Amino acid sequence: MKIGTPRESHPGERRVALTPDSATRLQKLGYQCFLEAGAGEAANFADADYRAAGVEIVPDADSLWQASDIVLKVRPPQDGEIARLHAGKTLIGFVNAASDAELLQRLAATGGSVIAMDAVPRISRAQKMDALSSMANIAGYRAVMEAGNHFGRFFTGQITAAGKVPPAKVLVVGAGVAGLAAIGTATSLGAITHAFDVRPEVAEQIESMGAQFVYLDFEEAQDGAATGGYAAPSSPEFREKQLARFRELAPEMDIVITTALIPGRPAPKLWTADMVAAMKPGSVVVDLAAERGGNCDLTVADEVVTSPNGVTIVGYTDYPSRMAAQASTLYATNLRHMLDDLTPAKDGVAVINMDDDVIRGATVVKDGAVTWPPPPPKIK
Ligand code: NAD
Repeated sequence: MKIGTPRESHPGERRVALTPDSATRLQKLGYQCFLEAGAGEAANFADADYRAAGVEIVPDADSLWQASDIVLKVRPPQDGEIARLHAGKTLIGFVNAASDAELLQRLAATGGSVIAMDAVPRISRAQKMDALSSMANIAGYRAVMEAGNHFGRFFTGQITAAGKVPPAKVLVVGAGVAGLAAIGTATSLGAITHAFDVRPEVAEQIESMGAQFVYLDFEEAQDGAATGGYAAPSSPEFREKQLARFRELAPEMDIVITTALIPGRPAPKLWTADMVAAMKPGSVVVDLAAERGGNCDLTVADEVVTSPNGVTIVGYTDYPSRMAAQASTLYATNLRHMLDDLTPAKDGVAVINMDDDVIRGATVVKDGAVTWPPPPPKIK
């Protein structure tokens, strides 16, 4: 079968779903690989590198989609791309299956099949395909880099001939994959890092990374509620306790990185306008939840704003794309592992085996029918 990757059409997207290395491995699985000319350029992969890896370069998106049985993409398909999907073709990429039912209906109407990288079950066997985690890991790291870019001081404390420099104090709110990556990055740069999550089980992980877990004085343990490893909305009493503790911390913190999300809901507002007003001038808030409405009251998606008291609030929504070479490499590897599982005979023929928990979970449209949501996985 033929696998093709077009240039990403979302404005400003720099990632690409195929790298020369992943193409080499896909060919070993028996596939022929195609790329739209220039699709890897923004991620520093030149057409010549793909050619050297045995990839055929085609001039435009039309010829790419026509040539391909399987299309690998990063961002959800746009109108022109949906129109190019047909019966017998399979699209593999992010489609926001849990939140965009209309897109699933439109994709199903083409008669094709869609494997959603955002719907890969989060079980041990599927970790190698967990693109949500590989992208969140990058976002957490990059959030600290963006914070440093806007923060006019060092992260680490220093004693120099020109004076003593205190270490930066960083608070990470939400310690999922992105939050833990941010904690690891901030502590490795020498910051004093605090972190909070509604899921008490992450306290140990936070502390093992050299950060301090922010405990609440709350009888019903730390968590508002949790389902299947994910957070659920907190009770009003818990939320009040949490906000009161954040109000105490706000004047001390130089950098706040918020990553708190609850599946299928807008981001909870946790860093309120009065907390921003209580922060020191020159402090920075990086809101990784900006795409879902933001954890901070002052966040504007895709913008950097400054509060009246001189706090910078970063609301970018494209952190993985800002590290396009790394993000493409990891994402292409996630895709390559998906194709490995989709190709049991290693003969270049993809088989969507609906009896396989991982493939079943990620298959959101099959031959023109919406197959989302899947039944619960059997493997834990
Ligand atoms: P996410 O992006 O959905 O949410 C980020 C974090 O925000 C979560 O840790 C959540 O608990 C926290 N949060 C929600 N409301 C909050 C609030 N009011 N205050 C503070 N924090 C709040 O999370 P994620 O990174 O996708 O991870 C979700 C879960 O999935 C975690 O338990 C993670 O360990 C698990 N996971 C498992 C696998 C696997 O393969 N087994 C892989 C990745 C993630």
